[in-house]
Amino acid sequence: MPERQIIDSDVVVLGAGAAGMMAALAAAEATDSRERSVCCVSKMPPATPNCTTRAYGDITWALSEHEDELVRQIHETGGWLGELDAIRGLARRVPTVLDRLRLLGVELDEPRPAAEGMPGVIRWSYRGRDSGQSVLDRIRDRALERGVRFFCDHMATQLLVSRNGVIDGVATVSLKARRPTIFRAGMVILATGGGACLYARTDNPDGTTGDGFALAYGAGAELVDLELISFGYPSQRVRDILERGEEMREELLGLGHAHYFLGGVAIDPSNHQSPQVGGLYAAGEVSGGLFGAGRLGGSALADCLAGALEVGGQADRRDDRTDHAGVDDRIDGACAQIERLLRGTADPAPVLQRIREIAWRGIGPVKTGTSITRALEELDALTPRLADLGGASREDIRHAVEAQNLHTLARLVALASLEREETRGNYWRVDHPEPDNASQLRKIVIRRGKSGPEVASRPLELPDDIAPSQPRIGAGCFNYIAPG
Ligand SMILES: Cc1cc2nc3c(=O)[nH]c(=O)nc-3n(C[C@H](O)[C@H](O)[C@H](O)COP(=O)(O)OP(=O)(O)OC[C@H]3O[C@@H](n4cnc5c(N)ncnc54)[C@H](O)[C@@H]3O)c2cc1C
Repeated sequence: MPERQIIDSDVVVLGAGAAGMMAALAAAEATDSRERSVCCVSKMPPATPNCTTRAYGDITWALSEHEDELVRQIHETGGWLGELDAIRGLARRVPTVLDRLRLLGVELDEPRPAAEGMPGVIRWSYRGRDSGQSVLDRIRDRALERGVRFFCDHMATQLLVSRNGVIDGVATVSLKARRPTIFRAGMVILATGGGACLYARTDNPDGTTGDGFALAYGAGAELVDLELISFGYPSQRVRDILERGEEMREELLGLGHAHYFLGGVAIDPSNHQSPQVGGLYAAGEVSGGLFGAGRLGGSALADCLAGALEVGGQADRRDDRTDHAGVDDRIDGACAQIERLLRGTADPAPVLQRIREIAWRGIGPVKTGTSITRALEELDALTPRLADLGGASREDIRHAVEAQNLHTLARLVALASLEREETRGNYWRVDHPEPDNASQLRKIVIRRGKSGPEVASRPLELPDDIAPSQPRIGAGCFNYIAPG
């Protein structure tokens, strides 16, 4: 087994999409000195598609006099399950994001009205679909000038956390060199994107496997709204199918795709830090709770970039609870796990495929308490097959870790979905087809307990002037239409 590699740095950013790239640049600028090093780590080879490079490039925004309208639209689209203060913060910060993109030389198309019935809400695009790579290239060039070090083909497998709950760094497997690479750092920024590849049908690129959710869960951080996922559907077809009623489930399962994870790592909206793990931050799709049960089109990239600027800007601060006692033991443990992985021989591809089919049928767009429970049983039956996954190629190693992460994620999504007995926004429980404002205006949160996941919920307080009615959802998402 090749020697492990240890790299010391101040800040490690996991992910090289919009959130990761911008966080790395902002962190380098905040520290503004080459002594404080920033590393940006990604599991994929350079220029491989991620959600940012697949995006249409739409960014929704409002002039300050229409900011309240934008906030209202985002909040209503999320079925009032979003975090109102965080939504207000996002609406305020989008102009800074657009200024930043312009300064980086990104060309923005002429703004256009976002949609009918949204006075003053405007949508900008950075030159449409597949132009995301050139945006990332511009951010990367500037980050390189600032001394950011980039590590491709390095896949994070475990966050290293001290006994008093403070980050020590992150363990990765170098997919090319087939060896453990450990980044020791007091600040880790998760920017690993969403997890829509949990599902057999998705528009997300390969590798969008929710690794950050599994990493955060393993580290003891709280996850929020994991049951809330956007599914894309042709809404007229859905309407026709629901009107006919029969064979509805099978027909719907033959259409549509998973698009966006609304839930994710719980963060303190004022600084994007995990309240449970000091020094662990999250930005972009991996962070959760902001939008609630649906997302207004063009608000994800805004959130990625605004969040990244916010997080990176704090790179000069430190958690004063730092206690690195025992860090060497933790590193040994993480390396042993990676070495086991590198010795694995079982092909991960069929296991990955099986998890994704279970998820689509059981905890996807059309679910019931029975389908969720069955999915949990099927996932439990797969557990023994996770032990020896691996193989000779770098894809085999990546897929082996992804299969383990998707298995964890599927179980967490299932547990959260069992808890939410209603239909709201993008979230549909066929056996509970109505929204339940009396008992379900709450956040469902999950943490790792002593003997497995612990599910809890937190009520949401709404201001007096907001009275939730029948929730609706935004354009481009699965429009829930009550049967009959
Ligand atoms: C088809 C499509 C169109 C869209 N259009 C729009 C739009 O027009 N407007 C809008 O606002 N939103 C849009 N979205 C949503 C938006 O693109 C995403 O939410 C956003 O790009 C996510 O960015 P991110 O930086 O969080 O993650 P990503 O861009 O997905 O990047 C994740 C990064 O993390 C890395 N990574 C993951 N796991 C690991 C690991 N274990 N170790 C190391 N690295 C890891 C990956 O390699 C990658 O570099 C669209 C999404 C899709 C799929």
